[in-house]
Amino acid sequence: MRRAPAGAVMRELSPASRNYKAWVTKAAKQAMVLETLDPGPLGDEEVEVAVEYCGLCHSDLSVFNNDWGISQFPAVLGHEVIGRITALGPNAKARRVGQRVGVGWFSGSDMYCRQCLSGNHHLCPQAQATIIGHRGGFASHVRANWAWTLPLPEKLNFADAGPLLCGGITVFSPLMMHAKATDRVGIIGIGGLGHMAVKFAAAYGCDVTAFTNSESKFDEAKSFGATHVVSSRDSAALKKLAGSFDLLISTVNVPLDWDALVNTLGPSGRLHVVGAVLEPIPVSAFALILQQRAVSGSPTGSPVAIETMLDFAARHGIAPQTEHYPMSRINDAFARLESGEARYRIVLDADF
Ligand SMILES: [Zn+2]
Ligand SMILES: [Zn+2]
Repeated sequence: MRRAPAGAVMRELSPASRNYKAWVTKAAKQAMVLETLDPGPLGDEEVEVAVEYCGLCHSDLSVFNNDWGISQFPAVLGHEVIGRITALGPNAKARRVGQRVGVGWFSGSDMYCRQCLSGNHHLCPQAQATIIGHRGGFASHVRANWAWTLPLPEKLNFADAGPLLCGGITVFSPLMMHAKATDRVGIIGIGGLGHMAVKFAAAYGCDVTAFTNSESKFDEAKSFGATHVVSSRDSAALKKLAGSFDLLISTVNVPLDWDALVNTLGPSGRLHVVGAVLEPIPVSAFALILQQRAVSGSPTGSPVAIETMLDFAARHGIAPQTEHYPMSRINDAFARLESGEARYRIVLDADF
């Protein structure tokens, strides 16, 4: 009798003999329609996940509208997936059928390039975006390379955990890379990303200032852990803060008074950009040189970074503030996202 190797996994005998149901976008800006799809055979290293919840991220809207010119239609969007594993490819490792996992912006990478071997899988030149040329989570099932399906800590509130998989790691990564507990951190933009950034930075131990142009969010930003709240459009207030911050994390996708914001950084301060503002950010060389400041950016994070973030979120009880829609009302949910009124992140509950 052969002994099962360490880390052995239960396998479904005939994976992917089922059809999937999916909300399909046929062309840019066209309302999604429910279709039945034949997913074909499960890849050797792939895992099949039955979707329970999927968060709605601003990047879904950007791909829906083809704002970045990289969308591929027909598309199945959705990249903040929470679900249970229903099948494993023959070479999938360290996962088991029935296990609850999350899938985020990426669902695969080549696993052999310099970045993958260095643990920076999210920088892999062949990283597979979950919703571009790959079917995402607005569906009954989603597939991903086993390493990109992240096991969820038991203590996590699964129904609201979806947005951590993309938005959460996007704002947690800059803290992991650049923040110390003693830092004064400014979070620019209190929306889907920014409100999670405030919670993470406060739990990190930082002194947190929230920048928002919406006075109606001032009190909420404080309830998320901000000590101070400043209007991002109040030039006089920004001037008063000159030299104050160690780290600014910008989550907005609209142009701001970048000069004034850079000048709120202290010596060796850093403006870190995670919001996809399409207009260039002008920065004067002197503003950087004389105070030894930096401007940087980052996309999501590696599988290990995501696991670390999920563990941190579970330990500190950090969850996004969400509005839930049944997935069958996906087009209404998109309209709500586009309105900018959502407080603060939308999650779709699978109802196939
Ligand atoms: Zn996203
Ligand atoms: Zn790679």
